[in-house]
Amino acid sequence: MFLRELRTQPGELKGIGPRTAEAFASLGIESLGDLLLHAPRYYEDRKTEVPLSKGVGGSPVNTIATVIAHDWFGFGRRRTLKVWIEDSSGRAALNCFGRNFLQQKLPVGAQIRIYGQFSYRFGEIQASSFEFEASETPSGTSSFGSLVPIYPAGASLRQGAIRKAIHEGLAKYIDQIEDELPPIYAREEIPVSKKKQLQGLHCPETLDEVRLARRALAWEEFFYLQLSIARRGLALRSTRKERTTARGTLARRVLESLPFELTRDQKTVLREIREDLRGSRPMARLIQGDVGSGKTLTAFLAACESIEAGEQAAFMAPTELLARQHAENAARLLEPAGVRLALLTGSVQSRAREEILSRLESGEIDLLIGTHALFSEGVRFRCLGLAIIDEQQRFGVLQRVALSQKGEEPDTLVMTATPIPRTLAMTVFGDLDVSVIRSMPPGRKPVITHLARMGREEKVYEWLKKEVRTGRQAYCVYPLIAESSKMDLKDAEGMYEALKQRFPDFRLGLIHSRLDEEEKVSVMRSFSSGEIDILVSTSVVEVGVDVPNATCMVVEHAERFGLAALHQLRGRVGRGEFQSYMFLVYAPDLSEEGKRRLRVMMENSDGFAVAEEDLKIRGPGNMTGTEQAGFLRLRFADPAADGETMLRARNLARKILQDDPGLLKPENSLLRQVINRTRPFEEELINGG
Ligand code: ADP
Ligand code: MG
Repeated sequence: MFLRELRTQPGELKGIGPRTAEAFASLGIESLGDLLLHAPRYYEDRKTEVPLSKGVGGSPVNTIATVIAHDWFGFGRRRTLKVWIEDSSGRAALNCFGRNFLQQKLPVGAQIRIYGQFSYRFGEIQASSFEFEASETPSGTSSFGSLVPIYPAGASLRQGAIRKAIHEGLAKYIDQIEDELPPIYAREEIPVSKKKQLQGLHCPETLDEVRLARRALAWEEFFYLQLSIARRGLALRSTRKERTTARGTLARRVLESLPFELTRDQKTVLREIREDLRGSRPMARLIQGDVGSGKTLTAFLAACESIEAGEQAAFMAPTELLARQHAENAARLLEPAGVRLALLTGSVQSRAREEILSRLESGEIDLLIGTHALFSEGVRFRCLGLAIIDEQQRFGVLQRVALSQKGEEPDTLVMTATPIPRTLAMTVFGDLDVSVIRSMPPGRKPVITHLARMGREEKVYEWLKKEVRTGRQAYCVYPLIAESSKMDLKDAEGMYEALKQRFPDFRLGLIHSRLDEEEKVSVMRSFSSGEIDILVSTSVVEVGVDVPNATCMVVEHAERFGLAALHQLRGRVGRGEFQSYMFLVYAPDLSEEGKRRLRVMMENSDGFAVAEEDLKIRGPGNMTGTEQAGFLRLRFADPAADGETMLRARNLARKILQDDPGLLKPENSLLRQVINRTRPFEEELINGG
């Protein structure tokens, strides 16, 4: 049986009561398979002897000692046992806070093995956190004399209980557990059997064994993730219909009307897209590019290709605000060239909606722009050829599929502005080909970013005043919409009033997610047209809003925002010819790590660099903007640290499927069995995001 088929519940092991079983469940351990994959956080070296006298301030004590006396300190319910122990090097005290019952377990004269971090306090060597066992404990059940795994435990589980359960599980089942990779694919990546992997993880002799085991486990995880993704990709894009290809006339007409040239990267991406469109399989491509790098325009040009070929295109944005903005841009850029377009969002209702839907079905609309309303029921295209999805990180894989199903295997183009490190992109979008736009349109000046401690924001406001006086506009962003009794933070509504007082001559606007769509649109319009000088907001302006005259972005309580969000916010300025500024105002009690994060913003203007730094600081499961990676529940594989391995796994998975899409060859039968019986990552890939 495969490890994941080991569905016996931990509660069925002996010695595990309902309380412990529940504690396991709260760690996500519902079966013995889960339990045996519960990875230690680290290992304590309980092989090397460290006597009491050597343990202070350095490595933990690991010694055999004798209990020599009991002592008590404190009074009443706080009365606490202190156990004095002695080894050949000296003596020390064990403070038994909350564990007075140790009086019985550690009688005077007892010989114990003891492990703990000791320190020198109040004139004695002492420890409050320690593990011990009788010195004559047989080695099979001993948690000394070896490398001892320390597990993630939660509040209600003791390390001993976890270790015991795992050892029992291993003892009972390890001989029945099958390997999950055929040897031909394992080679040097998995030098050890599943059995050895589990032993290396839970009862290693050396740290090298641990490394080997983890590497093998991570490799298998990467491999099955990539294999599952690739198989889904294969299922989604099988063969495609015959189609006429565009000659590029429509796109050229649009390009000729532009006052600028495409950047080199835009041209490259457009070429890649055109090749995809001519290919024998539907396109599935991700365009990654920093905010303002010109993705949207590139996607519009891609749409022109499909439209010229006689098909329809759909363009889905994450918010109504953005959908509207895209529609306005498309009207400006594409309509003069003859493209017929419409906007469909949740707030387009009844008659208007009916009319759009019927024109769509009869093919009188070439490009439909909208929100997720695009894949609501009743939306029928005559012939959907291309589905474009903007700001993919807000949508799950599922939505992409849902939109694709509005057509017969349409081409899909996904754009993401939150820069996702390449390694993560491969995890999340593993079945997409990736294009990157790195170069910015010429003439863009990087935004200058300053940090300011709260209390010094006066200087920031002075700067803002200067900018607005010269005709520019500004954003002031706050973490909350309204005052909160729970959090001592500035809020947009309150600061809107405060800033009105502070700048009586300026025109202020307020926008946040609680306004209804119409209000939001009207505020944004006034800001775009310059009728508002300072827009006070929450992070609703984070994505995609395009007002080139805005040069000043003030974010207060910047420590409350993720780096990805801050980078998105920064993308709202620096969109025109003027030098722009971002001010990050942070709480005075900000930790060193918090400051380090903000300094990343100051020192990096490239979104990819910001994202890589973010990943280093936070780890892959925690990326704002790419939470989709978190849902994958990778236990051993770390795409951030180990991108190269993931790449190898992806290449192998793709190659295997290329040669044998149904995994029917004899050498692939084990792969087929693992997939059929354990369905790796299936749920996550369908429900993700
Ligand atoms: P993104 O979608 O990547 O955020 P957009 O496509 O919205 O970027 O482009 C941002 C702004 O830059 C828009 O005003 C757009 O018209 C302009 N732009 C796009 N490509 C170029 C280019 N090659 N040269 C100059 N300006 C460009
Ligand atoms: Mg955009």
